[in-house]
Amino acid sequence: MTTTGTRLDHTGWVKQAEHAELLTEAFFGGGFVPARAGRTFENRNPATGTLLSEVDNCDAADVDAAVRAARAAFESGVWSRAGGQYRRQALLRFADLLEEHAAELAVLDSLDMGKRTVDAYELDLPFSVGLFRYYAEAIDKISGEVAPTPPGSLALVRRAPLGVVGAVIPWNYPVDMLAWKLAPALAAGNCVVLKPAEQSPSSALRIAQLAAEAGLPDGVLNVVPGTGEVTGRALGLHPDVDCLAFTGSTEVGKLFQGYAGNSNMKQVWLECGGKSANLVFADTDDLAQAARTAAFGIFFNQGEVCSGHSRLLVERSIHDEMVKLLVAETENYQPGDPLDPASGMGALVSPEHTSRVMRYVEAGAGSAEVVTGGNRVTVGDSDCYVAPTIFTGVDPDSAIAQEEIFGPVLAVIPFDTEDEAVAIANGTQYGLAASVSTGSLARAHRVADRLVAGTVSVNTVDAFSAWTPFGGVKASGHGRDLSLHALDKYTSLHTTWISL
Ligand code: NAD
Repeated sequence: MTTTGTRLDHTGWVKQAEHAELLTEAFFGGGFVPARAGRTFENRNPATGTLLSEVDNCDAADVDAAVRAARAAFESGVWSRAGGQYRRQALLRFADLLEEHAAELAVLDSLDMGKRTVDAYELDLPFSVGLFRYYAEAIDKISGEVAPTPPGSLALVRRAPLGVVGAVIPWNYPVDMLAWKLAPALAAGNCVVLKPAEQSPSSALRIAQLAAEAGLPDGVLNVVPGTGEVTGRALGLHPDVDCLAFTGSTEVGKLFQGYAGNSNMKQVWLECGGKSANLVFADTDDLAQAARTAAFGIFFNQGEVCSGHSRLLVERSIHDEMVKLLVAETENYQPGDPLDPASGMGALVSPEHTSRVMRYVEAGAGSAEVVTGGNRVTVGDSDCYVAPTIFTGVDPDSAIAQEEIFGPVLAVIPFDTEDEAVAIANGTQYGLAASVSTGSLARAHRVADRLVAGTVSVNTVDAFSAWTPFGGVKASGHGRDLSLHALDKYTSLHTTWISL
Protein backbone atom coordinates (compact mmCIF):
# COMPACT_ATOMS: atom_id res chain seq x y z
CA MET A 1 0.00 0.00 0.00
CA THR A 2 1.31 3.45 -0.87
CA THR A 3 0.20 6.81 0.44
CA THR A 4 1.79 10.06 -0.64
CA GLY A 5 1.55 13.42 1.03
CA THR A 6 -1.27 12.49 3.39
CA ARG A 7 -1.38 13.10 7.15
CA LEU A 8 -2.58 9.88 8.68
CA ASP A 9 -4.16 9.57 12.09
CA HIS A 10 -3.73 6.59 14.41
CA THR A 11 -6.32 4.49 12.56
CA GLY A 12 -4.72 5.36 9.23
CA TRP A 13 -1.28 4.23 10.39
CA VAL A 14 -2.71 1.04 11.91
CA LYS A 15 -4.30 0.23 8.53
CA GLN A 16 -1.06 1.03 6.75
CA ALA A 17 0.76 -1.31 9.15
CA GLU A 18 -1.71 -4.11 8.46
CA HIS A 19 -0.69 -3.99 4.79
CA ALA A 20 3.07 -3.85 5.45
CA GLU A 21 5.01 -6.20 3.19
CA LEU A 22 7.87 -7.70 5.17
CA LEU A 23 10.55 -8.97 2.82
CA THR A 24 12.98 -11.54 4.15
CA GLU A 25 15.49 -12.65 1.51
CA ALA A 26 18.77 -11.09 0.46
CA PHE A 27 18.72 -8.95 -2.67
CA PHE A 28 21.67 -9.15 -5.02
CA GLY A 29 22.42 -9.29 -8.71
CA GLY A 30 19.00 -7.74 -9.41
CA GLY A 31 16.69 -10.06 -7.47
CA PHE A 32 15.85 -11.76 -4.20
CA VAL A 33 18.01 -14.76 -3.33
CA PRO A 34 17.41 -17.04 -0.31
CA ALA A 35 20.33 -17.56 2.08
CA ARG A 36 22.18 -20.68 0.96
CA ALA A 37 22.40 -22.33 4.38
CA GLY A 38 18.76 -21.52 5.14
CA ARG A 39 19.50 -19.84 8.48
CA THR A 40 17.18 -17.10 9.68
CA PHE A 41 16.80 -14.64 12.55
CA GLU A 42 13.65 -13.30 14.18
CA ASN A 43 12.43 -9.81 13.45
CA ARG A 44 10.15 -8.70 16.29
CA ASN A 45 8.18 -5.50 16.76
CA PRO A 46 9.41 -4.07 20.09
CA ALA A 47 6.25 -1.99 20.46
CA THR A 48 4.08 -5.11 20.75
CA GLY A 49 6.48 -8.03 21.09
CA THR A 50 4.95 -9.75 18.04
CA LEU A 51 7.03 -11.70 15.53
CA LEU A 52 7.07 -9.76 12.26
CA SER A 53 9.14 -12.08 10.09
CA GLU A 54 11.93 -14.64 9.97
CA VAL A 55 14.69 -13.00 7.97
CA ASP A 56 17.54 -14.72 6.14
CA ASN A 57 20.81 -14.64 8.05
CA CYS A 58 23.36 -14.32 5.28
CA ASP A 59 26.64 -16.13 5.91
CA ALA A 60 30.07 -15.64 4.34
CA ALA A 61 29.06 -17.53 1.18
CA ASP A 62 26.00 -15.28 0.67
CA VAL A 63 28.08 -12.16 1.31
CA ASP A 64 30.66 -13.43 -1.19
CA ALA A 65 27.95 -13.95 -3.82
CA ALA A 66 26.64 -10.41 -3.23
CA VAL A 67 30.15 -8.92 -3.45
CA ARG A 68 30.73 -10.83 -6.70
CA ALA A 69 27.49 -9.42 -8.11
CA ALA A 70 28.59 -5.92 -7.12
CA ARG A 71 32.07 -6.44 -8.57
CA ALA A 72 30.67 -7.74 -11.87
CA ALA A 73 28.36 -4.75 -12.16
CA PHE A 74 31.21 -2.37 -11.34
CA GLU A 75 33.64 -3.90 -13.84
CA SER A 76 31.03 -3.95 -16.60
CA GLY A 77 30.98 -0.16 -16.44
CA VAL A 78 27.18 -0.13 -16.72
CA TRP A 79 27.10 2.24 -13.73
CA SER A 80 30.69 3.26 -12.97
CA ARG A 81 31.45 4.46 -16.50
CA ALA A 82 27.93 5.37 -17.54
CA GLY A 83 28.46 9.08 -16.99
CA GLY A 84 27.16 11.47 -14.39
CA GLN A 85 24.03 12.40 -16.36
CA TYR A 86 22.91 8.79 -16.54
CA ARG A 87 23.44 8.19 -12.83
CA ARG A 88 21.75 11.49 -12.05
CA GLN A 89 18.58 10.49 -13.91
CA ALA A 90 18.51 7.01 -12.35
CA LEU A 91 18.98 8.36 -8.82
CA LEU A 92 16.32 11.02 -9.34
CA ARG A 93 13.85 8.30 -10.44
CA PHE A 94 14.89 6.31 -7.36
CA ALA A 95 14.25 9.33 -5.11
CA ASP A 96 10.80 9.81 -6.69
CA LEU A 97 9.93 6.18 -5.93
CA LEU A 98 11.12 6.52 -2.32
CA GLU A 99 8.90 9.57 -1.96
CA GLU A 100 5.94 7.77 -3.50
CA HIS A 101 6.42 4.90 -1.02
CA ALA A 102 7.26 7.07 1.98
CA ALA A 103 4.32 5.95 4.14
CA GLU A 104 5.04 2.29 3.47
CA LEU A 105 8.74 2.70 4.33
CA ALA A 106 7.96 4.76 7.43
CA VAL A 107 5.72 1.99 8.74
CA LEU A 108 8.39 -0.65 8.10
CA ASP A 109 10.94 1.29 10.18
CA SER A 110 8.41 1.91 12.94
CA LEU A 111 7.35 -1.75 13.11
CA ASP A 112 10.95 -2.98 13.07
CA MET A 113 12.49 -0.69 15.68
CA GLY A 114 9.71 1.13 17.52
CA LYS A 115 10.05 4.77 16.49
CA ARG A 116 7.01 7.00 16.02
CA THR A 117 5.70 6.35 12.51
CA VAL A 118 4.87 10.00 12.04
CA ASP A 119 8.51 10.98 12.67
CA ALA A 120 9.74 8.41 10.16
CA TYR A 121 7.24 9.73 7.65
CA GLU A 122 7.55 13.48 8.22
CA LEU A 123 11.27 13.71 9.03
CA ASP A 124 13.32 10.61 8.10
CA LEU A 125 11.81 9.91 4.69
CA PRO A 126 11.85 13.51 3.37
CA PHE A 127 15.46 13.84 4.52
CA SER A 128 16.47 10.65 2.69
CA VAL A 129 14.60 11.56 -0.48
CA GLY A 130 16.23 14.99 -0.42
CA LEU A 131 19.64 13.42 0.07
CA PHE A 132 19.33 11.19 -3.00
CA ARG A 133 18.29 14.25 -4.99
CA TYR A 134 21.18 16.29 -3.56
CA TYR A 135 23.86 13.79 -4.62
CA ALA A 136 22.11 13.02 -7.92
CA GLU A 137 22.19 16.72 -8.75
CA ALA A 138 25.76 17.16 -7.54
CA ILE A 139 27.40 14.39 -9.45
CA ASP A 140 27.36 15.83 -12.96
CA LYS A 141 28.51 19.23 -11.71
CA ILE A 142 31.83 18.26 -10.19
CA SER A 143 34.80 18.66 -12.54
CA GLY A 144 38.32 17.34 -12.28
CA GLU A 145 41.52 19.41 -12.30
CA VAL A 146 44.36 20.11 -14.63
CA ALA A 147 47.46 20.32 -12.45
CA PRO A 148 50.02 23.13 -13.00
CA THR A 149 52.76 20.75 -14.19
CA PRO A 150 55.82 22.00 -16.15
CA PRO A 151 55.58 22.70 -19.90
CA GLY A 152 55.68 19.55 -21.99
CA SER A 153 53.35 17.63 -19.70
CA LEU A 154 49.66 17.50 -18.90
CA ALA A 155 48.34 16.04 -15.65
CA LEU A 156 44.62 15.41 -15.26
CA VAL A 157 43.28 14.73 -11.77
CA ARG A 158 39.79 13.32 -11.42
CA ARG A 159 37.69 11.60 -8.79
CA ALA A 160 37.37 7.90 -9.58
CA PRO A 161 34.86 5.57 -7.91
CA LEU A 162 36.50 3.04 -5.60
CA GLY A 163 34.68 -0.10 -6.75
CA VAL A 164 32.68 -2.16 -4.26
CA VAL A 165 31.56 -0.30 -1.16
CA GLY A 166 30.35 -2.28 1.86
CA ALA A 167 27.95 -0.36 4.09
CA VAL A 168 27.02 -1.52 7.60
CA ILE A 169 24.38 0.52 9.38
CA PRO A 170 22.53 0.70 12.72
CA TRP A 171 18.82 0.46 13.51
CA ASN A 172 18.03 3.87 14.99
CA TYR A 173 17.33 5.60 11.64
CA PRO A 174 17.13 2.67 9.21
CA VAL A 175 16.17 4.59 6.06
CA ASP A 176 18.24 7.69 6.83
CA MET A 177 21.41 5.75 7.68
CA LEU A 178 20.98 3.81 4.44
CA ALA A 179 20.57 7.04 2.47
CA TRP A 180 23.56 8.72 4.14
CA LYS A 181 25.78 5.89 2.82
CA LEU A 182 24.10 4.90 -0.45
CA ALA A 183 23.36 8.29 -1.97
CA PRO A 184 26.98 9.56 -2.20
CA ALA A 185 28.48 6.09 -2.83
CA LEU A 186 26.14 5.35 -5.74
CA ALA A 187 26.29 8.87 -7.16
CA ALA A 188 30.09 8.58 -7.31
CA GLY A 189 29.76 5.43 -9.46
CA ASN A 190 30.39 2.66 -6.92
CA CYS A 191 28.40 -0.53 -6.48
CA VAL A 192 27.25 -1.22 -2.92
CA VAL A 193 26.62 -4.20 -0.67
CA LEU A 194 24.59 -2.97 2.28
CA LYS A 195 24.05 -4.79 5.56
CA PRO A 196 21.15 -3.34 7.54
CA ALA A 197 20.99 -3.88 11.31
CA GLU A 198 19.33 -7.17 12.26
CA GLN A 199 16.76 -5.16 14.24
CA SER A 200 15.62 -3.23 11.13
CA PRO A 201 16.04 -5.17 7.86
CA SER A 202 12.65 -4.54 6.25
CA SER A 203 12.97 -1.06 4.71
CA ALA A 204 16.39 -1.81 3.19
CA LEU A 205 15.05 -4.90 1.38
CA ARG A 206 12.07 -2.96 0.05
CA ILE A 207 14.35 -0.11 -1.02
CA ALA A 208 16.55 -2.56 -2.98
CA GLN A 209 13.43 -3.60 -4.86
CA LEU A 210 12.52 0.04 -5.52
CA ALA A 211 16.06 0.70 -6.79
CA ALA A 212 15.61 -2.04 -9.39
CA GLU A 213 12.23 -0.57 -10.32
CA ALA A 214 13.92 2.82 -10.76
CA GLY A 215 16.27 1.26 -13.29
CA LEU A 216 19.49 0.89 -11.30
CA PRO A 217 21.30 -1.88 -13.17
CA ASP A 218 21.54 -5.34 -11.61
CA GLY A 219 24.31 -5.62 -9.03
CA VAL A 220 24.60 -1.87 -8.37
CA LEU A 221 22.71 -2.07 -5.07
CA ASN A 222 22.74 -5.29 -3.07
CA VAL A 223 21.37 -5.92 0.43
CA VAL A 224 22.47 -8.76 2.72
CA PRO A 225 20.40 -9.05 5.90
CA GLY A 226 21.99 -10.84 8.84
CA THR A 227 23.56 -10.58 12.24
CA GLY A 228 26.63 -8.50 12.94
CA GLU A 229 28.83 -11.36 14.06
CA VAL A 230 28.13 -13.34 10.87
CA THR A 231 27.10 -11.06 7.99
CA GLY A 232 28.77 -7.85 9.16
CA ARG A 233 32.00 -9.65 9.94
CA ALA A 234 32.01 -11.41 6.54
CA LEU A 235 31.60 -8.08 4.75
CA GLY A 236 34.30 -6.44 6.90
CA LEU A 237 36.74 -9.25 6.15
CA HIS A 238 35.89 -9.69 2.47
CA PRO A 239 39.03 -9.35 0.33
CA ASP A 240 37.22 -7.78 -2.62
CA VAL A 241 35.46 -4.92 -0.81
CA ASP A 242 37.32 -1.66 -1.47
CA CYS A 243 35.73 0.52 1.18
CA LEU A 244 33.68 -0.17 4.28
CA ALA A 245 31.43 2.62 5.51
CA PHE A 246 30.19 1.89 9.02
CA THR A 247 27.75 3.59 11.34
CA GLY A 248 27.22 2.07 14.76
CA SER A 249 28.80 1.70 18.15
CA THR A 250 32.41 2.56 18.94
CA GLU A 251 33.00 -1.00 20.10
CA VAL A 252 32.01 -2.50 16.73
CA GLY A 253 33.72 0.33 14.82
CA LYS A 254 37.02 -0.82 16.33
CA LEU A 255 36.34 -4.34 15.05
CA PHE A 256 36.03 -3.02 11.51
CA GLN A 257 39.46 -1.46 11.73
CA GLY A 258 40.72 -4.92 12.70
CA TYR A 259 38.82 -6.61 9.85
CA ALA A 260 40.48 -4.25 7.35
CA GLY A 261 43.93 -4.90 8.80
CA ASN A 262 43.34 -8.64 8.71
CA SER A 263 42.09 -8.70 5.13
CA ASN A 264 42.85 -6.39 2.20
CA MET A 265 43.43 -3.07 4.05
CA LYS A 266 40.17 -1.73 2.66
CA GLN A 267 39.39 1.87 3.55
CA VAL A 268 37.23 2.01 6.67
CA TRP A 269 35.08 5.01 7.56
CA LEU A 270 33.56 5.11 11.00
CA GLU A 271 30.57 7.03 12.33
CA CYS A 272 30.32 5.88 15.93
CA GLY A 273 28.82 6.74 19.28
CA GLY A 274 28.56 9.99 21.20
CA LYS A 275 27.87 11.63 24.56
CA SER A 276 27.06 15.13 23.36
CA ALA A 277 27.05 18.02 25.79
CA ASN A 278 24.58 20.90 25.70
CA LEU A 279 26.04 23.97 27.47
CA VAL A 280 23.46 26.48 28.70
CA PHE A 281 24.85 29.79 29.98
CA ALA A 282 23.01 32.22 32.23
CA ASP A 283 23.13 34.89 29.51
CA THR A 284 20.80 32.79 27.29
CA ASP A 285 18.06 35.10 25.92
CA ASP A 286 15.19 32.61 25.96
CA LEU A 287 15.51 29.93 28.61
CA ALA A 288 12.15 28.35 27.75
CA GLN A 289 13.31 27.85 24.18
CA ALA A 290 16.62 26.43 25.44
CA ALA A 291 14.65 23.93 27.55
CA ARG A 292 12.48 22.98 24.56
CA THR A 293 15.50 22.26 22.37
CA ALA A 294 17.35 20.49 25.21
CA ALA A 295 14.38 18.16 25.71
CA PHE A 296 14.17 17.51 21.97
CA GLY A 297 17.93 16.87 21.94
CA ILE A 298 17.64 13.92 24.34
CA PHE A 299 14.07 12.61 24.16
CA PHE A 300 13.42 12.66 20.41
CA ASN A 301 13.53 9.15 18.86
CA GLN A 302 13.50 7.67 22.43
CA GLY A 303 16.98 9.12 22.91
CA GLU A 304 18.29 6.56 20.43
CA VAL A 305 20.32 9.17 18.57
CA CYS A 306 24.09 9.05 18.11
CA SER A 307 24.35 12.80 18.56
CA GLY A 308 21.71 12.82 21.33
CA HIS A 309 22.52 15.53 23.86
CA SER A 310 22.59 13.31 26.93
CA ARG A 311 24.57 15.76 29.10
CA LEU A 312 23.11 19.14 30.00
CA LEU A 313 25.68 21.49 31.50
CA VAL A 314 23.89 24.42 33.15
CA GLU A 315 25.38 27.53 34.72
CA ARG A 316 24.61 27.23 38.43
CA SER A 317 22.61 30.50 38.73
CA ILE A 318 19.92 29.23 36.30
CA HIS A 319 20.16 25.53 37.19
CA ASP A 320 16.93 25.20 39.19
CA GLU A 321 14.85 27.22 36.75
CA MET A 322 16.17 25.22 33.81
CA VAL A 323 15.41 21.89 35.52
CA LYS A 324 11.86 23.06 36.25
CA LEU A 325 11.33 23.99 32.59
CA LEU A 326 12.79 20.67 31.44
CA VAL A 327 10.56 18.62 33.70
CA ALA A 328 7.56 20.44 32.21
CA GLU A 329 8.83 19.60 28.71
CA THR A 330 8.80 15.86 29.47
CA GLU A 331 5.00 15.99 29.20
CA ASN A 332 5.55 16.11 25.41
CA TYR A 333 7.63 12.90 25.42
CA GLN A 334 5.49 10.37 27.27
CA PRO A 335 5.80 6.96 25.57
CA GLY A 336 2.92 5.29 23.74
CA ASP A 337 1.98 3.27 20.65
CA PRO A 338 4.42 4.35 17.91
CA LEU A 339 1.63 4.19 15.30
CA ASP A 340 -0.28 6.88 17.21
CA PRO A 341 0.87 10.42 16.31
CA ALA A 342 -0.31 11.53 19.78
CA SER A 343 2.37 9.42 21.51
CA GLY A 344 5.33 11.47 22.68
CA MET A 345 7.89 8.70 22.20
CA GLY A 346 7.80 5.21 20.76
CA ALA A 347 9.28 1.93 21.98
CA LEU A 348 12.97 1.24 22.50
CA VAL A 349 14.41 -1.17 19.97
CA SER A 350 14.31 -4.41 21.99
CA PRO A 351 13.75 -5.88 25.46
CA GLU A 352 17.54 -6.34 25.82
CA HIS A 353 18.25 -2.72 24.97
CA THR A 354 15.48 -1.52 27.31
CA SER A 355 17.03 -3.56 30.14
CA ARG A 356 20.45 -2.08 29.34
CA VAL A 357 19.04 1.47 29.55
CA MET A 358 17.34 0.58 32.84
CA ARG A 359 20.63 -0.74 34.28
CA TYR A 360 22.13 2.72 33.68
CA VAL A 361 19.08 4.35 35.27
CA GLU A 362 19.39 2.13 38.34
CA ALA A 363 23.13 2.78 38.61
CA GLY A 364 22.54 6.54 38.27
CA ALA A 365 19.89 6.50 40.96
CA GLY A 366 22.59 5.35 43.40
CA SER A 367 24.56 8.57 43.17
CA ALA A 368 22.37 11.24 41.53
CA GLU A 369 18.81 12.47 42.01
CA VAL A 370 16.02 11.33 39.66
CA VAL A 371 13.81 14.41 39.25
CA THR A 372 11.44 12.79 36.77
CA GLY A 373 10.99 9.39 35.13
CA GLY A 374 13.39 6.61 36.01
CA ASN A 375 10.88 3.86 35.26
CA ARG A 376 10.14 1.28 32.59
CA VAL A 377 6.68 1.65 31.05
CA THR A 378 4.30 -1.01 29.72
CA VAL A 379 2.15 -0.21 26.70
CA GLY A 380 -0.20 -3.02 25.66
CA ASP A 381 1.78 -6.26 25.79
CA SER A 382 5.25 -4.71 25.63
CA ASP A 383 7.45 -3.15 28.27
CA CYS A 384 10.05 -1.83 25.81
CA TYR A 385 9.31 1.73 26.90
CA VAL A 386 11.15 4.06 29.27
CA ALA A 387 9.76 7.28 30.72
CA PRO A 388 11.73 10.44 29.92
CA THR A 389 14.27 10.53 32.73
CA ILE A 390 16.23 13.45 34.19
CA PHE A 391 19.04 13.16 36.71
CA THR A 392 20.43 16.15 38.61
CA GLY A 393 23.56 16.41 40.75
CA VAL A 394 25.42 14.13 38.34
CA ASP A 395 29.14 13.53 38.86
CA PRO A 396 30.77 14.27 35.45
CA ASP A 397 32.95 11.16 35.88
CA SER A 398 30.09 8.76 36.67
CA ALA A 399 28.86 6.14 34.19
CA ILE A 400 25.66 8.02 33.28
CA ALA A 401 27.77 11.07 32.37
CA GLN A 402 30.50 9.18 30.52
CA GLU A 403 28.91 6.24 28.69
CA GLU A 404 26.49 6.20 25.80
CA ILE A 405 23.13 5.04 27.19
CA PHE A 406 21.19 5.43 23.92
CA GLY A 407 17.89 6.02 25.68
CA PRO A 408 15.75 8.90 27.02
CA VAL A 409 18.06 9.67 29.95
CA LEU A 410 19.48 13.12 30.65
CA ALA A 411 22.32 13.90 33.07
CA VAL A 412 22.23 17.50 34.34
CA ILE A 413 25.56 18.88 35.59
CA PRO A 414 25.98 22.38 37.06
CA PHE A 415 29.03 24.56 36.29
CA ASP A 416 30.40 27.88 37.55
CA THR A 417 32.78 29.09 34.85
CA GLU A 418 33.18 28.88 31.09
CA ASP A 419 36.49 27.04 31.48
CA GLU A 420 34.88 24.46 33.75
CA ALA A 421 31.99 23.94 31.31
CA VAL A 422 34.36 23.39 28.38
CA ALA A 423 36.51 20.98 30.39
CA ILE A 424 33.47 18.89 31.42
CA ALA A 425 32.07 18.96 27.87
CA ASN A 426 35.35 17.71 26.40
CA GLY A 427 35.91 15.20 29.20
CA THR A 428 34.60 12.02 27.58
CA GLN A 429 36.06 9.62 25.01
CA TYR A 430 33.58 10.94 22.41
CA GLY A 431 33.52 13.97 20.11
CA LEU A 432 30.47 13.83 17.85
CA ALA A 433 28.40 16.93 18.57
CA ALA A 434 27.88 19.67 21.15
CA SER A 435 25.57 22.64 21.60
CA VAL A 436 25.80 26.04 23.27
CA SER A 437 23.05 28.40 24.44
CA THR A 438 24.17 31.97 25.02
CA GLY A 439 23.09 35.52 24.25
CA SER A 440 26.69 36.56 23.66
CA LEU A 441 28.07 36.26 20.14
CA ALA A 442 31.61 36.47 21.48
CA ARG A 443 31.01 33.61 23.90
CA ALA A 444 29.30 31.57 21.17
CA HIS A 445 32.42 31.78 18.99
CA ARG A 446 34.84 31.32 21.85
CA VAL A 447 33.14 28.24 23.29
CA ALA A 448 32.26 26.67 19.93
CA ASP A 449 35.92 26.94 18.98
CA ARG A 450 37.04 25.09 22.10
CA LEU A 451 34.52 22.25 21.98
CA VAL A 452 36.05 19.09 20.55
CA ALA A 453 33.24 17.82 18.32
CA GLY A 454 32.37 17.43 14.65
CA THR A 455 29.45 19.87 14.88
CA VAL A 456 28.72 22.58 17.44
CA SER A 457 25.20 24.04 17.31
CA VAL A 458 24.60 27.48 18.81
CA ASN A 459 21.18 28.42 20.21
CA THR A 460 19.74 25.24 18.75
CA VAL A 461 20.57 21.59 19.31
CA ASP A 462 22.01 18.97 16.98
CA ALA A 463 21.78 20.95 13.75
CA PHE A 464 22.53 19.01 10.58
CA SER A 465 21.58 19.15 6.91
CA ALA A 466 22.42 17.68 3.51
CA TRP A 467 24.80 20.61 2.95
CA THR A 468 26.92 20.33 6.10
CA PRO A 469 29.33 17.51 7.00
CA PHE A 470 28.34 15.21 9.85
CA GLY A 471 30.74 13.04 11.84
CA GLY A 472 33.00 12.98 14.82
CA VAL A 473 36.46 12.95 16.28
CA LYS A 474 38.06 10.76 18.97
CA ALA A 475 36.02 7.61 19.68
CA SER A 476 33.10 9.01 17.68
CA GLY A 477 34.93 8.03 14.52
CA HIS A 478 36.28 9.86 11.51
CA GLY A 479 35.30 10.77 7.99
CA ARG A 480 32.15 12.69 7.24
CA ASP A 481 28.69 11.79 6.02
CA LEU A 482 26.50 14.36 4.24
CA SER A 483 27.62 17.37 2.16
CA LEU A 484 29.97 17.20 -0.84
CA HIS A 485 32.73 16.13 1.59
CA ALA A 486 31.13 12.66 1.83
CA LEU A 487 32.24 12.08 -1.76
CA ASP A 488 35.83 12.03 -0.47
CA LYS A 489 35.04 8.69 1.20
CA TYR A 490 33.75 7.06 -1.94
CA THR A 491 36.26 8.25 -4.52
CA SER A 492 40.01 8.19 -5.00
CA LEU A 493 41.99 10.89 -6.75
CA HIS A 494 43.20 9.45 -10.03
CA THR A 495 46.01 11.21 -11.92
CA THR A 496 46.77 10.73 -15.60
CA TRP A 497 50.15 12.31 -16.51
CA ILE A 498 50.81 12.76 -20.23
CA SER A 499 54.21 13.63 -21.62
CA LEU A 500 53.46 15.86 -24.62
P1 NAD B 1 26.10 -1.73 16.63
O1 NAD B 1 27.50 -1.26 16.56
O2 NAD B 1 25.74 -2.80 17.57
O3 NAD B 1 25.64 -2.26 15.19
C1 NAD B 1 25.82 -1.49 14.02
C2 NAD B 1 25.93 -2.44 12.84
O4 NAD B 1 27.09 -3.24 13.01
C3 NAD B 1 24.74 -3.39 12.71
O5 NAD B 1 24.43 -3.59 11.35
C4 NAD B 1 25.28 -4.67 13.33
O6 NAD B 1 24.67 -5.85 12.84
C5 NAD B 1 26.74 -4.60 12.93
N1 NAD B 1 27.60 -5.39 13.84
C6 NAD B 1 27.38 -5.66 15.16
N2 NAD B 1 28.36 -6.44 15.64
C7 NAD B 1 29.22 -6.70 14.61
C8 NAD B 1 30.41 -7.45 14.48
N3 NAD B 1 30.92 -8.14 15.50
N4 NAD B 1 31.03 -7.45 13.27
C9 NAD B 1 30.51 -6.79 12.22
N5 NAD B 1 29.37 -6.07 12.27
C10 NAD B 1 28.73 -6.03 13.46
O7 NAD B 1 25.22 -0.42 16.82
P2 NAD B 1 23.63 -0.32 16.93
O8 NAD B 1 23.23 -0.84 18.25
O9 NAD B 1 22.99 -0.90 15.71
O10 NAD B 1 23.41 1.27 16.84
C11 NAD B 1 23.64 2.11 17.91
C12 NAD B 1 25.00 2.74 17.80
O11 NAD B 1 25.14 3.40 16.55
C13 NAD B 1 25.21 3.81 18.84
O12 NAD B 1 26.49 3.66 19.41
C14 NAD B 1 25.11 5.10 18.05
O13 NAD B 1 25.80 6.18 18.62
C15 NAD B 1 25.69 4.70 16.75
N6 NAD B 1 25.27 5.61 15.68
C16 NAD B 1 26.19 6.52 15.21
C17 NAD B 1 25.81 7.44 14.22
C18 NAD B 1 26.79 8.46 13.68
O14 NAD B 1 26.49 9.03 12.64
N7 NAD B 1 27.91 8.72 14.33
C19 NAD B 1 24.49 7.43 13.74
C20 NAD B 1 23.60 6.50 14.25
C21 NAD B 1 24.00 5.59 15.23
